[in-house]
Amino acid sequence: MKFQLKLPNVKNSIFAVMSQKANEFGAVNLSQGFPDFDADPKLIDLVTYYMKKGCNQYAPMPGVPALRQAIVKKHQAHQDVEYDVNTEITVTAGATQAIATAIAATVCPGDEVIVFEPTYDAYVPLIELQGGISVPIELKAPDFKPDWADVKNAISPKTKAIIINSPHNPCGSVLDSSDLQELANILKNTKVLIISDEVYEHIVFDEKPHVSISSNRELRKRSFVISSFGKTLHTTGWKVGYCLAPEVLTNEFRKAHQFIVYSVNTPMQYAIADYLQDSTAYERVSSFYEEKRNLTLKLLKKSSLKPLHTSGTYFQLVDYSHTNFENGIEITNYLVKEKSLSLIPLEPFYQKYEAPKLIRICFAKKDKTLKKGLKSLNAF
Ligand code: PMP
Ligand code: GLN
Repeated sequence: MKFQLKLPNVKNSIFAVMSQKANEFGAVNLSQGFPDFDADPKLIDLVTYYMKKGCNQYAPMPGVPALRQAIVKKHQAHQDVEYDVNTEITVTAGATQAIATAIAATVCPGDEVIVFEPTYDAYVPLIELQGGISVPIELKAPDFKPDWADVKNAISPKTKAIIINSPHNPCGSVLDSSDLQELANILKNTKVLIISDEVYEHIVFDEKPHVSISSNRELRKRSFVISSFGKTLHTTGWKVGYCLAPEVLTNEFRKAHQFIVYSVNTPMQYAIADYLQDSTAYERVSSFYEEKRNLTLKLLKKSSLKPLHTSGTYFQLVDYSHTNFENGIEITNYLVKEKSLSLIPLEPFYQKYEAPKLIRICFAKKDKTLKKGLKSLNAF
């Protein structure tokens, strides 16, 4: 049957494609961003405990109160910013649903949404599903930070929102408070909203803080601040995330949320709420991954592929421009087939600008996996 396609140009996500190729060729999978080690057994025991206790029916639509309370407390401790437990937080089925819901609740056909390229793969299709138009701005190597003059120039009367992602996937760049102030100055007398994807908020290195968009007053009032326990608690398969936003925005968010998903799985919410009572649950994550970043850099010393600086996330970019490979698709296909190593090309993160000659390594893996996988790059 023929019908008009809503996303005619969308292909399978590169993360699914490269994980599938890793399986097909028996390659070490340093492509899709998920840990190959398990979550804390204490956290898993808590889920079992709450399931056996009978917490198995629908949770309240905005999330169980204990988890909302724990998230608000964590955000206060981490960012010194308060949100109201009842009116300013919604628990979501991962960050993806929160981003999709924030877009669905605000973007009308013909609205423009500013995104930065390289762009996380979900943003543009989610904007287009609502009839919105993405307006890409290039992040330039080597530091991949926004040029705020470009942002100012990109704003038009049709701009509905801007999507920010810090720490940034795939570049590992991180915004600081002066970046936020620049953005605040630009947006001050506009009605532009912000969707701030902060899923790597607890993975920031070199003793630098994560500066949430919410920490800037001008930005807080116009922002959906989104995160995910998948990254922080090594539970990407649980799909539990959240959205913090002022009441007027949360009201609109929940109107869509209640009909998209209604609520999120109950025992996981209770378990995470309990687990967060000990703040080391999230405070240790940056140093844990910093060691993995440093091991990755050490292992890359034997290769001629040059690493860029990673300030946050669990991704490392390396430069292959001195090789004979034409593009990232070519080199990653070669690596997975011939060298048993699956990595991510940058081309799928670009729609307007040309992808730089960089490929992405995920270091959320056991040390022995990193050693085994990265050995293959010594051939360069
Ligand atoms: N945003 C970014 C930048 C991500 O890297 C990811 C996933 N890894 C997500 C959103 C999606 O998070 P979730 O799995 O919680 O939906
Ligand atoms: N965000 C993860 C990554 O960047 C993948 C998530 C997914 O596969 N949708 O690899």
